[in-house]
Amino acid sequence: MRASVLFEQRTPLKVEDVELEAPRAGEVRVRMAASGVCHSCLHAADGSWANVPVPIVLGDEGAGVVEAVGPGVQTLTAGDHVILSWAPTCGRCHYCVIGRPNLCEQRRPGQGVLPEGTTRMSLGGRPVYQYGHVATYASVTVVAESSAIAIDRTMPLDRAALIGCSVMTGVGAVINTAAVPPGASMAVFGVGGVGLNAVQGGAMVAAQPIIAVDVVGSKLESARQLGATHAIDASREDPVAEIRRITRRGADFTFVAVGDARAVGQAADALAPGGTCVVIGVPATGATVPLDVRPLVTGERVIRGSSYGSARTREDLPRLVELYRGGRLKIDELITRRYGLDEANEAFRALAAGELSRGLIVF
Ligand SMILES: [Zn+2]
Ligand SMILES: [Zn+2]
Repeated sequence: MRASVLFEQRTPLKVEDVELEAPRAGEVRVRMAASGVCHSCLHAADGSWANVPVPIVLGDEGAGVVEAVGPGVQTLTAGDHVILSWAPTCGRCHYCVIGRPNLCEQRRPGQGVLPEGTTRMSLGGRPVYQYGHVATYASVTVVAESSAIAIDRTMPLDRAALIGCSVMTGVGAVINTAAVPPGASMAVFGVGGVGLNAVQGGAMVAAQPIIAVDVVGSKLESARQLGATHAIDASREDPVAEIRRITRRGADFTFVAVGDARAVGQAADALAPGGTCVVIGVPATGATVPLDVRPLVTGERVIRGSSYGSARTREDLPRLVELYRGGRLKIDELITRRYGLDEANEAFRALAAGELSRGLIVF
């Protein structure tokens, strides 16, 4: 198969003919239709995140068609259309059993291997790691059964791809992690691929107002199209003061959809008493935030993380497909540009330059 390979951090990706082993027990082989270009992969490539095993095939957001299944696979057969999930679930560990499968103990974050502990990709006998348990910058990949969620075959696969990471992460942070009620005020710091989905999650649950904060005018414009009622250009205005002015007592919920520790501090400062700050973006390895503790205590404010929108993938990914098919979830509007597999470096450049809501690699 053909894959875009990162041989060393801070160097360009190269398209290679990569050998792909057959699926082992509990695994499936998927022919990719499309893959989103995610900020987490850019961070892995540009060196912001430490300890990324190489060589590695990046990509944690994609959809395709099951080609073959390994022994013991029960939920999928060849021909099934699937969204890939970077968070495999075992169904049996503490977190799976208590209904928080996005924290499954079977996950191996940052190791570049399947839940079983090894990779199915190689080059000349040398293992090639698989980013996010899936490695979607590949024409064909092998993943754990629980990383491939079957969806309705009438759903366009290029649009389904985005549900696998950015849509689930952004919408899920609002409707699952924070469970924002109608009429609550919210602000989203950083309206790239994930932040735009937090905005539209807010529109889905009828949050009011929905305030978008960014430093790129075109992104703020996209946020308005996806349901933001207010837009703050943080390069020109103080976002905390503006949020306080618009909401009068501070925001009930703030979401940080950018991997920037300073934005976490601002999002905490912008909270109303009793408010919750949800951190979605993953900053550089080792980043810390100075925190004024007193208002946290006296105003019972909460700061919490949200990983993968607290996804229960087997429930939530098909649910998001239905919301798209019913016209209640926007995905077409999120796709700024389409690329070939050999254009992944250009997609990274455009993403880093703030030119993309979402770039999509199509196979
Ligand atoms: Zn992602
Ligand atoms: Zn589990």
